[in-house]
Amino acid sequence: MPSYVVMQPTTLCNLDCSYCYLPLRADDRRMSPAVARAVAADVNRWAGQQRFSVVWHGGEPMAAGREQLARLMAPFAPGVEHHMQTNATLIDDAWCDFFREQQVRVSVSVDGPEQDNQARRDRGGHGRYQIIMKGIEALRRNGLTFAALCVVSDPGPGVATRLYEFFLELGCDVLGINIEEREGVNTRENRHDAGAVRAFWSELTAAWRIAPRIHVREIEWTLRYVAAVLDGTTSDLLPRQLDPIPTIGYDGSVVLLSPELAGFNDGRYGDFSSGNVLTTPLADLLLAPQRTRWVAEFVEGVEACRATCPYFGFCGGGHAANRYFEHGRFDGTETEHCHNSKINLLEGVLEHVSRA
Ligand code: SF4
Repeated sequence: MPSYVVMQPTTLCNLDCSYCYLPLRADDRRMSPAVARAVAADVNRWAGQQRFSVVWHGGEPMAAGREQLARLMAPFAPGVEHHMQTNATLIDDAWCDFFREQQVRVSVSVDGPEQDNQARRDRGGHGRYQIIMKGIEALRRNGLTFAALCVVSDPGPGVATRLYEFFLELGCDVLGINIEEREGVNTRENRHDAGAVRAFWSELTAAWRIAPRIHVREIEWTLRYVAAVLDGTTSDLLPRQLDPIPTIGYDGSVVLLSPELAGFNDGRYGDFSSGNVLTTPLADLLLAPQRTRWVAEFVEGVEACRATCPYFGFCGGGHAANRYFEHGRFDGTETEHCHNSKINLLEGVLEHVSRA
C-alpha cells in the first residue's frame, strides 16, 4: 500500500520558471471530481489503516481555484492529510482561510533571497520574487506554518550559508533542497564539480548546526543513515518494497514512482501510465507494478545499484525519472543526480562531521 498519492488538479502553471520540467504547464487541463472520487475510494480505506497523505501538485494547484479544489477534496475522508506544493504567488487571506478550513499543509517553492530566484519568472520574463514573498507573508500573517522547497542551480561557495539564513528568517519549519535536475523539458546541464557539491552540503550542515531550528530534509536523512550505520540497523531504513508513489494525472491516468514522468510519451515506453482510475481501481493498478514495462526495467536498475554501488544503503536506488531523462532508459545506475543529491550529500555531511 502506498503512503501517499500525488494529484494533479490542473496542468496549468501561472509561472514559467526556466528549470521547470512540466510539458503541459501552459495548458489548463483540469481534473474532474469523478477522478477524485475514484482515487478516494481506495485512499479512504488506506487512511483507516495508516497515516496517509494526498499531495496536490500541478502545474500550480492553486490555479485550479478554491471551488474546484474544494470539489476535488470533498470525497476524501477527514483522516486523510492534504498537502499542497505551490509557487505561493496566488496566496492571499482568502486562500489562507481555505487552507485552514480544509486543513491543508502548504509547502512553498522559493529559491532563497532575490538574487537566487532568477529562474522563477512569468511568461513575460518578469521575476516573481516580490509576489512570492507577498504570498508567504500572507501565510505568516494568518499564523499558518509552512514548509519550503528550494532549487539550487549553482552550488558555489557561500550559497548554502546565505540560503540557510534566508530560510531561518522566512520562518519555514521544514526545508527541502533540490540541486537542479535534468528532467522533463528541462535539458539544462546538471553536472557540477564534485568538490563544490560536497562543499555545498558541508557548508549547509555547518549553518544548520549553528541554529538547527528547521528540519532540513537532506541533512536529517543523512544523519539518520549515519546513526543507523553506527547502530548496525541500516536494514531497517530502506523500505522492503518500492513505495509506488502513484501520481494521478488530471485525466485519471496513473504514473508510478516518478511524478516527473506524467505527461510524457515516447516511442519505446508509451505514456508511462499504468492505467486509469476511471476504468480500474487504483488498488488494482498497484497490485503488480512490474506489469508496466518501464517499471520492470527500473527494478532491474535498482538491483544493479544494489550489486554495484557502495551508496545503495543510503540511497535505495534513486529515482526513475532521473535515470530516464539522463540515460534515456531505466536500467542504468549512476546519474548526475546521484552525484549531486546522494553521493556528495553523504560525503559533504561526513566532511563537516569529520572537521567539527
Ligand atoms: S547513488 Fe546512484 S548508483 Fe548509487 S544506489 Fe543511488 S541511484 Fe544507484
